[in-house]
Amino acid sequence: MPLDTRTLVIVLVGLGVLLTTAAMLTWRAHRHIVALGYWAAGALIGVIGMSLVMFYSVLPAGFVIPLSNGMVAATYVLNWFGVRSFGGRPIPWRTGFAAFVLLTAGNAYFVVVDDDIIARILIGSAGIAALSLLAALELWRMGPPGAPRRAKRTTALVFALHAAFVIVRAAMMPGAGPLEHLLAPNLLNGIAFLEAILAVTAWSLGFLAMTSERLQADLDQLATIDPLTGAFNRRAFFRHAEREIARARRTGEPLALLLLDLDRFKRINDRFGHQAGDELLRAFAETVTARLRKSDLFGRYGGEEFCLLLPNTDRTGARTLAEGLRVDFARRAVDFDGQRIIASVSIGIAECGSSADLDTALADADTALYQAKRNGRNQVAVSAQAG
Ligand code: GH3
Ligand code: MG
Ligand code: MG
Repeated sequence: MPLDTRTLVIVLVGLGVLLTTAAMLTWRAHRHIVALGYWAAGALIGVIGMSLVMFYSVLPAGFVIPLSNGMVAATYVLNWFGVRSFGGRPIPWRTGFAAFVLLTAGNAYFVVVDDDIIARILIGSAGIAALSLLAALELWRMGPPGAPRRAKRTTALVFALHAAFVIVRAAMMPGAGPLEHLLAPNLLNGIAFLEAILAVTAWSLGFLAMTSERLQADLDQLATIDPLTGAFNRRAFFRHAEREIARARRTGEPLALLLLDLDRFKRINDRFGHQAGDELLRAFAETVTARLRKSDLFGRYGGEEFCLLLPNTDRTGARTLAEGLRVDFARRAVDFDGQRIIASVSIGIAECGSSADLDTALADADTALYQAKRNGRNQVAVSAQAG
């Protein structure tokens, strides 16, 4: 069944217009994701390049063929730039520009000097495959380690498969019979356009899925992390803590809850200003985080009060850590606006026994904290309650 190449080009252009519109609208809505700008520009240029194919027999070949192929090459360069930008990596302007010039000039040579359509297809395929593989590789490896990557990896596969198809097609080209022009209705040409339709759709959806994945991760971060200190906010801390407590109850492992309250913080704010106070809160969070294990939960309870949940830790272990934190922080001076601020922290500890719930543990830790404050601050107190 010969596929009608002209119809396929029309479908490709029509689809390109829709996908370009989608990319532009998404970019407008999320200007801070610069990658969307590259992808939208790439889609637009690609659609113009593809629509020029319909004018191959109308406009002078030496002009329209290199122009159309150059624009398609630019799409792949811009896709790659967008991927780099999405990963927070520098844009390889020189390499991208060199690839574009090389592909366009190579195409022009085999129109103007030596009219050879097979050579043109081989050059174009090499460029498309190389640029697609670069994008695939970049997407596959993209960090940071904790970030979601399902959409990135799926899009990487799209580019890798596209590159593989383009290479196989180029290899089959010489044996596929004479080819007078790109729209010649032979089976390989038809399949090539059909694949282009699928690839363009798949990578456009991939880019949109990556954007959605990133926005969702940003939302999750906003909803769970305290922006000043990087600790969990109260709600997130409690949610994780409930789960940990339930787990400890099942396994019978010990679990310690710490309440940490900066000493005389109001005085520091009054004397040095709120910004200095904020700086101190940041420094405190840094001091704590430096000593934590991966499984420990650190949250901002509110204001200058923090909480720590230490899985698989009894009161002795918790006291050792708390003492370490207390000493670290008391020794840490924060320089702000030419002033040197030294502060301290009081810590109350409760061990959650097998029957304890979070509320009881919090009340016990609070009682211990109150004790530490009453005894003169800058110290650690352990709840007398068995938990
Ligand atoms: P104590 O030793 O008894 O804990 O005394 P304190 O002054 O630390 O306790 P108090 O609870 O009276 O004061 C807490 C202060 O923390 C009051 C509030 O203005 C300040 N505070 C709360 N949140 C923030 C914040 O995000 N930034 C700054 N700079 N200050 C904050
Ligand atoms: Mg305080
Ligand atoms: Mg307080």
